Amino acid sequence: MIPVPVRDDLRRLEGYHSPQVDVRIRLNTNESPAEPPAAWRDAFAAELSRVAWNRYPDRSATALREAIAAIHGVSPDQVFVANGSNEVLQTLLLAYAGPGRTVATFEPTYQMHGQIARVTGATVVETSRRDDFTLDLDASIDAIESARPMVTFLCSPNNPTGLVEPEANVRAVLHAVPGLLVVDEAYAQFAPWSAMSLVDDSRPLVVTRTFSKTWSMAAARLGYLVGPTWLVAELDKVVLPYHLDAAKQIGGRLAIRFTDEMEERVATIVAERNRIAACFDLLPIDHVPSGANFILFRPRERAGRDVWQALLERGVLVRDCSSWPRLDDCLRVTVGTAEENTVFLDALAEVV
Ligand code: PMP
Repeated sequence: MIPVPVRDDLRRLEGYHSPQVDVRIRLNTNESPAEPPAAWRDAFAAELSRVAWNRYPDRSATALREAIAAIHGVSPDQVFVANGSNEVLQTLLLAYAGPGRTVATFEPTYQMHGQIARVTGATVVETSRRDDFTLDLDASIDAIESARPMVTFLCSPNNPTGLVEPEANVRAVLHAVPGLLVVDEAYAQFAPWSAMSLVDDSRPLVVTRTFSKTWSMAAARLGYLVGPTWLVAELDKVVLPYHLDAAKQIGGRLAIRFTDEMEERVATIVAERNRIAACFDLLPIDHVPSGANFILFRPRERAGRDVWQALLERGVLVRDCSSWPRLDDCLRVTVGTAEENTVFLDALAEVV
C-alpha cells in the first residue's frame, strides 16, 4: 500500500526524542529522584476506590483548579489544567498560534516550544542567546519588533541551560511583545524567582507549571498554567471535552496537601545541585549556573559525546546535548539522590 501523505508542512519535521537506555543510574530526563510521600499514595488509593467510573469526570476540574489557585493566590478562573505542561503548551498554541501566525523562541531552549508551534502550522522565529546562554535583550527585542509574534516564549529556569531569567528581562520582553508572553516555569520551585507574581488580567502573560518535577509525579502527566481570565476562557474552546481524567484530578488535588514535603525534597535537590556544581569546579569542566534540578556542563579536554559514552559504560546515563544546535560538546545531568550523584561524580572524575 502507498502510505497516505502527511500534511506537507509536517513532512520536514522530526519528532522529539529522549532516548532511554536500560542503565543503573538514570540522570537524563529531569525527573525527581524521590517518590511522593506514602501518605499521598494512601489518600490517593482511598479516593480512587470511591470514583464513580461509569460517569465522566468533572469537566472543569473545579476542585483541582481551586487547590492550585489557592497556592498561587489567584482565582480558579485564572487556572487551566491539562495532561502535563506539554498539553498546556499545545492548547495555548492551538488557540493563539496556528497558520499565518508567528511564535518567537530564544535558543537554546526547550525544544517542544518550537516543535508544537510548528505542528499547529505557525512560523517559528528563533533568536540566538549569547555564547553564555544569557538572553541578548537588545537582539531579542529587535527580533520581536520585526517578527511581531503572537506568542513569545521564555523558559525560566531554562531547559537545557538551567539559567534563571532575571525579572528585568521578563518585564522588558513583556513590555515589547505584541501578543502573549509565555514563561515556562516547569522548574520554578528550584529557582529563587518566579514570574507568577506578574500574572494579572491586565497583562498578556502566562506562566506554565508541571507536577512532573518538584511534585515527583511525572507518571501522572499533570500540568497547568496561570494566566488572565480572558485567556483561560478561550482555552476551554480548544481543549477536548473531559480531557482530564478523574484519577489525575484527585492525584493533583491531594498532592497539594503535601506542599511542605515537596519543599523539603526541593531543598535537598538544590543542596545536591550545589554540591555537584562545586565538584565540577575541581574538574576540567565548564558549567552553567543552574536554578533547576539539572546542570548543563561541557568537558574541556574530551569531546562531550565521548564523555557521555564513557559515563554510560560506567552505568550512568546523562542527556547528550552535544549534537544539538548551539550546544557543541554539552551534556546535561539531572540531580539524583545523593548516592546516585556520588556515583556520577566519581565516574566523571575518572573520564574527564
Ligand atoms: N517545559 C519544560 C521546560 C520541560 O523541561 C518539560 C519536561 N521536560 C516540560 C515543559 C513538560 O513537562 P510535562 O509535560 O511533564 O509537564
